[in-house]
Amino acid sequence: MRVVQKFGGTSLADGDCLRSAAEKAVSFARRGAQVVCVVSAQGQATDALLRQIAKVTQSPDPREADCVLAAGEQISAGLMAMAIQSLGCPAVSFTGGQAGIRTDCNYTDACILHVDTANILRALEAGKIAVVAGFQGADETGSITTLGRGGSDTTAVALAAALKADRCMIYTDVDGVYDRDPRRFPDAKKFPVISYEDMLTLAQSGAQVLQKRCVELGRRFCVPIEVLSAFCPGEGTLVTDTRKSFLPKLP
Ligand code: ADP
Ligand code: ASP
Ligand code: MG
Repeated sequence: MRVVQKFGGTSLADGDCLRSAAEKAVSFARRGAQVVCVVSAQGQATDALLRQIAKVTQSPDPREADCVLAAGEQISAGLMAMAIQSLGCPAVSFTGGQAGIRTDCNYTDACILHVDTANILRALEAGKIAVVAGFQGADETGSITTLGRGGSDTTAVALAAALKADRCMIYTDVDGVYDRDPRRFPDAKKFPVISYEDMLTLAQSGAQVLQKRCVELGRRFCVPIEVLSAFCPGEGTLVTDTRKSFLPKLP
């Protein structure tokens, strides 16, 4: 079995959160799964980087802005790899470019064109957990690009599709997808399962729990996407083709 596990910013906000995310990855690896972790920048790190850019210029060069913005995820990837190693499990970090994520050159809002999985597969075959910096790739010149706000979700689903992973687990700060933002509407109802189409409608209307492009990719490549809480155990929401898809059993 092969799984992609994505951890959002709040799920990596401090040392305890990082360790708990690392434990989730290691527990899958110890049960025999090949594990790829995709990590976001810690906490509000991307907003802090945007503020730093704004202190320098009001009209940032988009290529240089991406050089700055991608740094948040790069820090998380190195920290996560070390957190996994400290639990006794081999792990190696990759930037988006090193992970083979090739994008167009639409800096700050680039689209993934292709994923070359060679480096990740080599790591998995060597028994390592591959930790990939989300939200970023490289264009044909090798310049760093970013994928738009919330882009780590898209990194995770693109990797799950390219690696033919059995499932893509999105760990976040709510325990699934609701009919409305559960933080603003305490009576919101959780979906145990939701179709790609309905999820797309929610994402288009501003539900930031999954980036719209990640849902489109999931639908195109039939990637089962599971949205789960990083903090509370229990079932989340499965985003899938509700007509025919099923979720393979975990090891
Ligand atoms: P992450 O940092 O893990 O990527 P995000 O902040 O991007 O997390 O997305 C999770 C947030 O999405 C939740 O905290 C929640 O407030 C918000 N949200 C908005 N609409 C919904 C919805 N329909 N279902 C679940 N969460 C939603
Ligand atoms: N760190 C980026 C953002 O805040 C990407 C992500 O979290 O998915 O938008
Ligand atoms: Mg997000």
